[in-house]
Amino acid sequence: MHSSCRAALAALALTLCSNTLLAQEQGDTRSDAPKPHAEAAQTPAESAKPPAATHRFWDRENDWLFAGVAISRSLDYSSTLNFRRRGRNEVLLTNAIVDNHPAFAAIEAGATGASIGVSYLFHHYGHHRLERWTSLVHIGVATGGAIRNYSLKTAH
Ligand SMILES: [Zn+2]
Repeated sequence: MHSSCRAALAALALTLCSNTLLAQEQGDTRSDAPKPHAEAAQTPAESAKPPAATHRFWDRENDWLFAGVAISRSLDYSSTLNFRRRGRNEVLLTNAIVDNHPAFAAIEAGATGASIGVSYLFHHYGHHRLERWTSLVHIGVATGGAIRNYSLKTAH
């Protein structure tokens, strides 16, 4: 994702969050103590937290998750082009779109943005586990697709 786009999303999230989250944020940990973000999202510990516990949308865990989504979409992009070069048809999108590289790249970027938007909606309505899972599932699906693209044998 372009940094300008990211900055715009961050600004939007800040604007929307500032009113509701400012009060809770006072006690928010700003320490740089390293935490295992990826693992933390998958442990049941999060569900044990009281539902009132909230966090900044653009916290470090989401930073990592969204970076993961962006990376997995890039993998999908490059693996799909690799797949096309080997003469197989892209089944999810038409070949015309996949072969139009700028348009396909925009679709991949759009998928990343849409995923962050869905995460934000879950966050806004207090579904913080679903918020994390949106990114985790997206990463899993996109990366799984990329692995499948690369592992398929060349058609000829
Ligand atoms: Zn949240």
